[in-house]
Amino acid sequence: MTGTLTVAGLGPGNETLITPEVTVAIAEATDIVGYIPYVARIPAREGLTLHPTDNRVELERATHALEMAASGRKVVVVSSGDPGVFAMASAVFEAMDRAPHLAHVETRILPGITAMLAAAARTGAPLGHDFCAINLSDNLKPWSVVEKRIRLSAQADFAMAFYNPRSASRPHQFGQALDILRQECGTERLIIFARAVTTPQEKIKVTTLADARAEMADMRTVVLVGNSLTRCIGPYVYTPRRAE
Ligand code: SAH
Repeated sequence: MTGTLTVAGLGPGNETLITPEVTVAIAEATDIVGYIPYVARIPAREGLTLHPTDNRVELERATHALEMAASGRKVVVVSSGDPGVFAMASAVFEAMDRAPHLAHVETRILPGITAMLAAAARTGAPLGHDFCAINLSDNLKPWSVVEKRIRLSAQADFAMAFYNPRSASRPHQFGQALDILRQECGTERLIIFARAVTTPQEKIKVTTLADARAEMADMRTVVLVGNSLTRCIGPYVYTPRRAE
């Protein structure tokens, strides 16, 4: 039996946003690997082994998944949203890079709806022109790099999506990020706090940088910041298709 490794995105939370090809891959899997809350979204069934692990062991998790696939299992690594956006797809290829004897494993990546696109759709079209996505966690990069990327993206007038904005172990950095944004964009710029999008806990708040507070974000929030032309029309937020 030839094993395979599939890295699949489960979307932002609602089951209707899981793609049919991901559903098929999960139905055919012998093993599911991933961060505990993501694996918890997969119903148990006979013949399926669940391997939930803690979030900080991405490379070990990826190597374990590759080893199981090399031994003939049909392994699905699950991520929330899209697996290529601050998630497991890169970790799998990095693990392959470090263990070339596992590079022969047949691997495919199945996309999912990433948080920023689900959040954008909820509010209108705030990412309707050029935009960028920045992971605010400094687990895997220095905070100085995060600050530089925020500042230069703001200067380039990108709309921005911020993932992992604030956690219990990093309570203060998001406030610093907001300070940089106020310096570069002014206080009237629109900002959206989108929490637990498409789940029963969903909460969306549209405000300006003047009123934005660090406490409005947590680890279940994706934060969108408009560009200089982003505006409200009724309850909607949109960024025009043109730039000046
Ligand atoms: N691969 C995921 C991102 C993983 S990083 C994706 O493509 O969406 C985890 C971060 O994603 C969280 O801290 C939060 O910023 C964001 N996120 C994931 N799901 C979310 C949701 N349903 N609502 C709001 N933000 C979400």
